[in-house]
Amino acid sequence: MPLTDKQTHDLRGLIDARRKALLAEMREDAARAREQPYSEHAGGVSDSGDESVATLIADLEQAELTRDLEEFRTLDVARNRLQDGSYGVCTDCGSDIAFERLKASPGAMRCIQCQERHEKTYGGEPRPSL
Ligand SMILES: [Zn+2]
Repeated sequence: MPLTDKQTHDLRGLIDARRKALLAEMREDAARAREQPYSEHAGGVSDSGDESVATLIADLEQAELTRDLEEFRTLDVARNRLQDGSYGVCTDCGSDIAFERLKASPGAMRCIQCQERHEKTYGGEPRPSL
């Protein structure tokens, strides 16, 4: 069933709110990174244990920022799709994506079935090549 105008309106609100939250989060992260650059995490201590903790923290922050950025891009694509009217349609099979799924994950591009197939094919555990 295609989305109703009300559902589309609600989802647009969810996307905008999530985008704003992500943007604030990323700004905060960036500000924190400026205030506390890598060298300050390490505190200039030569102890190698402290240094590896600092590296770990930097890696974690980087991973979080990358994840936030990816989600942000996904939401931008969703907004464009809302504009051109292709939002809520599965990019793989062309069926309508369930409203409940979009509400939980407004950036979803695929229906549940296609998403599961996609993850089985491309995602999940890295498989040994042999
Ligand atoms: Zn599909």
